[in-house]
Amino acid sequence: MNIQQMNKAELTQLIAQNAENPDPEILAEARRLCDSVYGKQVFMRGLIEFTNYCKNNCYYCGIRAANGNVHRYRLTKEDILTCCDIGYNLGFRTYVLQGGEDPYFTDDIMCDIVSDIRRIYPDCAITLSLGERSKESYQRLYNAGANRYLLRHETATDEHYSLLHPENLLLSNRKQCLRDLKEIGFQTGAGFMVGSPGQTYEMLAEDLLFLKDLQPEMVGIGPFIPHADTPFREEAQGSLNLTLLMVALTRLMLPTALLPATTALGSIDPSGREQGLKAGANVVMPNLSPLNVRKDYSLYDNKICTGDEAAECRMCIQRRIQSSGFELSTGRGDHIGNP
Ligand code: SF4
Repeated sequence: MNIQQMNKAELTQLIAQNAENPDPEILAEARRLCDSVYGKQVFMRGLIEFTNYCKNNCYYCGIRAANGNVHRYRLTKEDILTCCDIGYNLGFRTYVLQGGEDPYFTDDIMCDIVSDIRRIYPDCAITLSLGERSKESYQRLYNAGANRYLLRHETATDEHYSLLHPENLLLSNRKQCLRDLKEIGFQTGAGFMVGSPGQTYEMLAEDLLFLKDLQPEMVGIGPFIPHADTPFREEAQGSLNLTLLMVALTRLMLPTALLPATTALGSIDPSGREQGLKAGANVVMPNLSPLNVRKDYSLYDNKICTGDEAAECRMCIQRRIQSSGFELSTGRGDHIGNP
């Protein structure tokens, strides 16, 4: 099956036919392809959720500005460096600094944090996930020492994007940000939710075609999970099977991509992350955030791992990886480049 050659109608049909019960051969083929590129290695990223302030109001997100029930926090640079130190000693060689779109973290403040991490940990990759910023801002962050940037596109269809976001947020702007990041030289991560309100199989096909066009180095795919304090509180969550199918199809579309077995996947099924790896994922992102803020970074309900110390998360994930027949990599886990 060569999905890279398929058009939108063919992809839509393939997704529709496999949405509820994915053909095991599709998942197995995706895994074999991943093995042929990266072997059995699973790369580990240490996630530091450093601010849950956000100026935006995405309808699906638990830390949206309008949610008055969130206890807001910001980590200081010293807090972040402590997380890095704990992470380094646990074997992490990639840090992911993730936050809402928090105006407090200006370019000057972020560049100061990034350059300190770069100076102290020259052998580590620094990934940022800070939302939409100007190209100049991205360039400054890159110059300060950041290597990678995660910015999920969420959906590649305009009408669907405006169903998930208020009207000041535009898909065209998000796509421009992704292109800017690629142009600057970031290993760039796009991604989308599976099963978000209003999503059709055709929209998922459009996501695959967008990825084919963008050629991101990373793609985060997780099921939509409703949060009680959002307008989508009554919506059904995305399914495990459809999410696994989309992970597998993304692997088949982008053979060299780094694909996380997401925490959201693990939150809807106890073995969700292991199943994600078996469907072609090859990255895990255990949490390095301080324990006292974990519960406050609540993008969706019933998120796992909010009560575990960094070392526990690290060991738990290692057990899960090894018991599923994979190997935990201690390297940076860079994208290997397209052939
Ligand atoms: S999804 Fe991101 S940008 Fe949107 S409200 Fe949540 S943290 Fe803010």
